[in-house]
Amino acid sequence: MTGLRRRRVDRPDLEAREALLREMAALDAQGLNRGSAGNGSVRATEGGFWITPTGVGAAGLTLENLVWVDGNGRAHGDWQPSSEWHFHRAVYATRSDLHAVLHAHAPHATALACLRRGLPAFHYMVAVAGGDDVPCTPYHLFGTEALSAAVAQAFAQRLACLMANHGLVAGGRDMAHATRVLLEVESLCGIYLQALSVGEPVCLTRAEMAAVIDKFKSYGQPQARRERRTR
Ligand SMILES: [Zn+2]
Repeated sequence: MTGLRRRRVDRPDLEAREALLREMAALDAQGLNRGSAGNGSVRATEGGFWITPTGVGAAGLTLENLVWVDGNGRAHGDWQPSSEWHFHRAVYATRSDLHAVLHAHAPHATALACLRRGLPAFHYMVAVAGGDDVPCTPYHLFGTEALSAAVAQAFAQRLACLMANHGLVAGGRDMAHATRVLLEVESLCGIYLQALSVGEPVCLTRAEMAAVIDKFKSYGQPQARRERRTR
């Protein structure tokens, strides 16, 4: 290993970067990403974030080829970051509480995004993304500032969005949380498409969704809730 590579491996955030590698492999194994289509990142303690490299599938990802993009948007090391690093940066800039971002061309979410439709409040679990819908951004070319701005706008109030004719983005307090949001939204998109195939789903009211969001705040084990508050 060269001196440069050694230093990069020794950088902080080792646990978060290992979680990123594990999750990218899991998404690939579950068929939610294929080849080098999706990407993921974790916030770096030195500023900026660590992101998967461009053109490398899950099987080829290592601690050494994760790319550190610093707080000024400058990539370090021998590998090029994912071509979609711009919207990861936009999410971290918009939400200081988020530390992990996953992007996948997951089949159900992507199918819905190709209809240029988001998820309305057709099921109470839509609240997992922080509100009473999961929006679909307008179409913009991948890797552009226009797409980043649209994703940032969606993340101002949500933990996930669909990108028209493209795929799904989900964020979380950590990789486990981002994964939970991504998997739930992908599952909901599948259920919504099924419901749409036989009729128009009945949506919950604003008041009904507000009650769900309120209940989510006290859901789970007390220890987990304390940890959520202190992060
Ligand atoms: Zn993509």
